[in-house]
Amino acid sequence: MIYLDNAATMRVFDCAICAAENVMRNEYFNPNATYKSGVAAHEKIEAARRVIASAMGVFPDELVFTSCATEANNWVFNSGIKNKKGNIVISAGEHSSVYEPAMQLKSKGADVRIAPLRKDGTVDEKALYGIIDNNTALVSVIHVSNETGVINPIKSISENIKKLAPRALIHSDGVQGFLKTNDTVSSLGVDFYSASAHKIGAPKGIGLLFIKRELNIAPLIYGGGQERGLRSGTQNTPYIEAFASAVQEFSRLCESSNIQSIRNELCECFTAQGYRIIGNGNNSGYILCVCVPGVKAEILQNIAHDDGVIIGKGAACSGTKRGNRVLSAVGLDQKSIESCIRISFAVDTSKSDVNNAAKIIIQAAERIRSEHVG
Ligand code: PLP
Repeated sequence: MIYLDNAATMRVFDCAICAAENVMRNEYFNPNATYKSGVAAHEKIEAARRVIASAMGVFPDELVFTSCATEANNWVFNSGIKNKKGNIVISAGEHSSVYEPAMQLKSKGADVRIAPLRKDGTVDEKALYGIIDNNTALVSVIHVSNETGVINPIKSISENIKKLAPRALIHSDGVQGFLKTNDTVSSLGVDFYSASAHKIGAPKGIGLLFIKRELNIAPLIYGGGQERGLRSGTQNTPYIEAFASAVQEFSRLCESSNIQSIRNELCECFTAQGYRIIGNGNNSGYILCVCVPGVKAEILQNIAHDDGVIIGKGAACSGTKRGNRVLSAVGLDQKSIESCIRISFAVDTSKSDVNNAAKIIIQAAERIRSEHVG
């Protein structure tokens, strides 16, 4: 089976499995216990936090572990801006874990404004700056689109927002961006950044929120005071270890990865077939959104699966309807959206696998078309 739905989730690295297993079998102590083994477990969490912080270019005490990025994103919109008054601005390209909390606030009377996307998939910066004002409390713009792989220029966007609205907090959903672009989090100039471990080779169920040092954010969960009192609950030590281990492995593999050129070649191959690449601008090498004219993505996905290739269509963690929200914001009509597949790579996806997958996808699409015509 050739697995090309890595933006949905990635295979867990062996080293991450070993790291989690070791904690579960041998170092299972409560990291908040005061005896030596508990203290050692706590120190392992802090060492893991240092590894991840270093990969992000931030201070370890700026990272809070959460159960997933959805939790981290919700935190920003709820207790994250609890005491701040003013309007909230998001882009139309946000994942549902940002869009829905924003809509929840809107339903309770908040002034939520949405910046449109350009045809290339990036946020329309002119329109974005047009709806930001002195009274803006929070701006959230996704780093790398989970639908199209397009990279938003968060660094310059943050700089411009700070000029227009010096009091506004800036959040970026970094789930598809963390370790997958050349930017470090510190270089982006944001106040919040969320990441998820299962997109980089660690298990599902662990994520984090970067919170800039000087910010005084309200806790997400009250209780025993873990995570500096910000997110109570006994820490998920096996998965935190696995997260750090995956960060190290992903970073190591990145050094020899040629994923961007594999993606570019696949683009050329599909373009030659008359397929349309969606959001082809400044893209992450990890995600390719393609419209296969005259073919329903769902059917193509199923046939490709039977032929040994797993691909995505829209956002895996949302219904098709919500996945369409972003693609329609890019300007696609319903028929084109229904023909969009999402191919996404792991850091170690091989060129030969991608070439074979391309042949299978093209043949499957031809079969679907001929069956429909015939
Ligand atoms: N944000 C983006 C851009 C995503 O792609 C995803 C998952 O697909 C999430 C947030 C949610 O991450 P998690 O599964 O850790 O909740």
